[in-house]
Amino acid sequence: MNNKAKLIIFTGPSGVGKGTILADFFKRVDNNIVYSISNTTRNPRDGEINGMHYFFVSKNEFEKMIKEDSFLEYAQYSDNYYGTNKKFVDEKINEGKSVLLEIELQGALQVMEKRPDAVTIFIKPPNFKELEKRLRGRHSEDEETILKRLEAAKIELTNANKFHYTIENDTVDKAVDELIRIYHKETNL
Ligand code: 5GP
Repeated sequence: MNNKAKLIIFTGPSGVGKGTILADFFKRVDNNIVYSISNTTRNPRDGEINGMHYFFVSKNEFEKMIKEDSFLEYAQYSDNYYGTNKKFVDEKINEGKSVLLEIELQGALQVMEKRPDAVTIFIKPPNFKELEKRLRGRHSEDEETILKRLEAAKIELTNANKFHYTIENDTVDKAVDELIRIYHKETNL
């Protein structure tokens, strides 16, 4: 069967478990889909590797990339910039690979405008209390950052209906199964 290269947007509030789901997803699928490594101005967390989790850049470098029109989309989120490298996405799609963008809502809305053929997936928590519990439980942010992320989460959750698919992250295994099902359906594999 033919492989249709698709741009896939994967969005959901901070703490919902996107990273865990994607780590499992990429172990279980073929190499016809690649993860787009974003640029960010936030500091690396313990264990995060430059060029693997993100390209960690300074604010100046990021703003230079904005001027050079390097981004398919970018957004300010919780006091930092995050952006998707346009050249990488276009190259991979031209090679026949699907590309998965793990991005927050503002960026997702920009890509929906520019690339209306993108497949859009929103991942939501079972409920808001559980989200807060997960976000606090990972101990990677200070209180101020947690509160900013929870505020952003409220807005993100009210926009879930703008996405083609919604997956509830109740258990990781079920969420990954669902993501794989959508991926195969959309890329015809
Ligand atoms: P974190 O700081 O937790 O790694 O990411 C914060 C939020 O930014 C997450 O919702 C994540 O999906 C999103 N994000 C990561 N990379 C990008 C990007 O390139 N563009 C946009 N718009 N959001 C991103």
